[in-house]
Amino acid sequence: MRTRSTVWSLVLAGSLAITTMPAAVAADAPPAAPAAKAAATTLPSNVAKSRTPGGRLLMLPLVNKTYALSSGWGARCIPTRGASTFHHGLDMSAPDGAPIYAVAGGTVTHVVQPTSSVSGQIVVRTIVDGVSTQIAYLHSWNPGKYVKVGDRVKVGQRIGDVGASGPATGPHLHLEVWTGGYYQGTSHDPRVWLEGYGLPVTNRATADWTSPAPTSCTYYATANLNLRTEPATTSTVRATLPPNTTLANKPGVKTNGYIPVTVRLATGTVKGWVHADYISQSKTYHLTKSTVVRQSAISTSKALLTAPAGASLTPVQVSGWWTKVVVYGVTGWVPNSVVAAGL
Ligand SMILES: [Zn+2]
Repeated sequence: MRTRSTVWSLVLAGSLAITTMPAAVAADAPPAAPAAKAAATTLPSNVAKSRTPGGRLLMLPLVNKTYALSSGWGARCIPTRGASTFHHGLDMSAPDGAPIYAVAGGTVTHVVQPTSSVSGQIVVRTIVDGVSTQIAYLHSWNPGKYVKVGDRVKVGQRIGDVGASGPATGPHLHLEVWTGGYYQGTSHDPRVWLEGYGLPVTNRATADWTSPAPTSCTYYATANLNLRTEPATTSTVRATLPPNTTLANKPGVKTNGYIPVTVRLATGTVKGWVHADYISQSKTYHLTKSTVVRQSAISTSKALLTAPAGASLTPVQVSGWWTKVVVYGVTGWVPNSVVAAGL
């Protein structure tokens, strides 16, 4: 049931939409707001604003020329263990602590505190020209600082701070746009969605470092890896692939942690599924036992360090019985016999 004040706000919003609106007041601001709440309705300056065909006010989430587009929406090659093969967001690199403004007014449906593996998340559900839309803002250090689940937020209201919580290499806003349910409906490219409503997210960035989505990815097995007929541990093993076997993959699909790959074996080309926790974009090597890393390829040369069994290394060159490696940032020589493929 509509309360009197809701009806008033609708009437006022309607009248504001057809008259000249003061720049500092939101179209859906409540009438006669108490002085204490007036500050919350002041739109941030230097942030691009736009109105949808249906009259809905939208804004970019960050101040103009304070962010760079660092990664786009779409299929991608898995950059680190545990990462997805489809990037559902647009990454906007920005200073740590920079304000995040609500792209649209709506209701907060999720506030997720971060862990080492899960990003801080704020999700706001809104109706944009009749379409139920969820806009997600990720990586804040403390997503509950400004809002909680159930809060009504206005367009342009500060709802979070830019951070780097969860799997992130630096402070950035990862913005997602969904219709029909957060991770249940359809994921939209935020750049296309924003620009479709007249918000110049690319133009207002200081730089665009995004690259087109790849059509193929190459990975290498990091261990003896089972190639299975289906993306499940219960399915048949077609072959067990040794470490550093080359795996060709069409990105975008990850099921139960498995990705589809094509492998060239001596017997021919085989397709199947491998678990994505045991792949890398580069070949990997390790020490089979605790080893003295020496300055030159001779056993009497200076010992630079003793690296433990299992230490990851990068081979540089082979000379006779010795391999030049980089291990723990130190470049030196170890016997060929202690270098093995895989992690
Ligand atoms: Zn992202």
